Amino acid sequence: MTPRFCLACGARLRRVRAEGRWRRRCPRCGWTYYANPVPAVVAVIVRRGRLLLARRGRPPYAGTWDAPGGFLESGETPEQALRRELREEIGVGVRRARFVGFATDRYGPGGFVVLAAAYRVTPTSTKMRAADDVSEVRWFPLARVPWRAIAFVGLRGLLRKAVRRGTASVPPPDIEGYWQLTPGSSW
Ligand SMILES: [Zn+2]
Repeated sequence: MTPRFCLACGARLRRVRAEGRWRRRCPRCGWTYYANPVPAVVAVIVRRGRLLLARRGRPPYAGTWDAPGGFLESGETPEQALRRELREEIGVGVRRARFVGFATDRYGPGGFVVLAAAYRVTPTSTKMRAADDVSEVRWFPLARVPWRAIAFVGLRGLLRKAVRRGTASVPPPDIEGYWQLTPGSSW
């Protein structure tokens, strides 16, 4: 998923060593590909001991389970993106949302890096309908969540923690807790 050509002028990029990392830079105009993480939001929705998951309808990982959410559009705050995505994907509004942590994942094998901010969400309704790029929504009892069928490993870890915290009624995480979720060990 690394671009080979300059997004500004179209020349072929060269690998350069900069700021202690390998980057791709345009020899003609100097444009540099930084591969910064792309911001996204996801919703952790738990009600009566069940977690809501959405089945992915599109690649990457089509058919696997995921938390509802998506990428921020230009100019949106995370909270605005959360409202828009939940409306689009499962047809509900957001009554309350509280930040619970970050998850870092690659968007598919070899894909770009996603930084997802997760929010514990109380929706305006428990009647969901799958739409947009979600093919199915389902409530899973917390003891029977198909963790291995959640393809994004960082998100899986964050959901497990959020669900554990939720069931134990532990107070909101301190700042340290926000940083416990690290990228998969393979990269
Ligand atoms: Zn260029």
